[in-house]
Amino acid sequence: MSSPIARRASTPVRIGPVTVGGGHPVVVQSMTNTDTADVEGTALQIRALAIAGSELVRVTVNTDEAAAAVPHIVERLAQLGVSVPIVGDFHFNGHKLLREHPGCAEALAKYRINPGNVGRGAKRDPQFTEMVEMACRHDKPVRIGVNWGSLDQDLLTRLMDENSKRAQPLEANDVVREALVVSALESAARAEEIGLPHDRIVISCKVSGVQDLIGVYRNIARRCDYAVHLGLTEAGMGSKGIVASTAGISVLLQQGIGDTIRVSLTPEPNGDRTQEVIVAQEILQTMGLRSFAPMVIACPGCGRTTSTYFQQLAQDIQSHLRHRMPDWRKRYAGVEQMTVAVIGCVVNGPGESKHANLGISLPGTGERPVAPVYIDGEKGPTLKGERIAEEFQQLVEDYVERTYGRA
Ligand code: SF4
Repeated sequence: MSSPIARRASTPVRIGPVTVGGGHPVVVQSMTNTDTADVEGTALQIRALAIAGSELVRVTVNTDEAAAAVPHIVERLAQLGVSVPIVGDFHFNGHKLLREHPGCAEALAKYRINPGNVGRGAKRDPQFTEMVEMACRHDKPVRIGVNWGSLDQDLLTRLMDENSKRAQPLEANDVVREALVVSALESAARAEEIGLPHDRIVISCKVSGVQDLIGVYRNIARRCDYAVHLGLTEAGMGSKGIVASTAGISVLLQQGIGDTIRVSLTPEPNGDRTQEVIVAQEILQTMGLRSFAPMVIACPGCGRTTSTYFQQLAQDIQSHLRHRMPDWRKRYAGVEQMTVAVIGCVVNGPGESKHANLGISLPGTGERPVAPVYIDGEKGPTLKGERIAEEFQQLVEDYVERTYGRA
């Protein structure tokens, strides 16, 4: 699918088999929440994230045990037939872990370095240098990942001091935003001085407010051509996290900014970690930037459709399409662009159905108990009786085979 949005020119960065930036499709990534030292648990969660569609998966590497586990996780994933690149997230002791665990340094596809958390005072520069040198030695790209919650305090103090001497000082929040950008750009420049090539650097500046995110990334986009990773940090739970992430990420994507995204959702206790991957995909797909799975178009329902039958059918079709995608993807090129309409009554049913590849218009309250189906805009069979759902699902299967089986 060609992008309808003019993308910001950025330097492409190779991360294993994936390329981020340089006009390549926006990459979806996610992060595990298992204890990385738990090889089996982490490998299984990575597999679930990869099957859901995560194209990069980050794991925290915070202890010796976690660093020692990384090569075993990659090995286990290979046994499971999963080849998604694994990114190591380092803070405070990353230099030491990379030095003492060369197997981890080699197995990872990328390192994430947070310049605000590489060490304090005199330790900061040598520890940052050591991590970048490890990346150079192992030929790994690096994300310079600045975060609002762990901003380099020495840098912030310096910029606050400079601001106080201005004739017209900026608001404190503007200085913090500037500090985020300067931290990323100065750290990236320093990494290049150490020897990391320009095309081995991705940068990010994560904040938890939507307007801050938009302001900071617009600023970054004006000042460099590094590939950028977008995401709202600490976005929150449930609909709030989804809405806030979607609002911030979408505005930036619409302006052509963003080469890879993550939706950082706090899962419900024992909730499904893959939700963040689905949301990221849906952001990209609804904006017309990429296609991942057939989309279901469903009306919200109203007083004209008082039964839950049509809600159930819409949900069943959505689940069926997602469930079939891993197999369809291998066999039916282009199937991810298919649209299926499930509409609650005849008011908008036939019209919406005609715009979709396949559409069904269910009987509203008081309407004849029949469900006309449209296929590629033309009137198809009319379903009735107890088996409307099964028969419609079969029509979808037949359509996929007939239409995409030839591709
Ligand atoms: S299509 Fe029919 S059931 Fe759906 S919202 Fe419109 S009027 Fe209501």
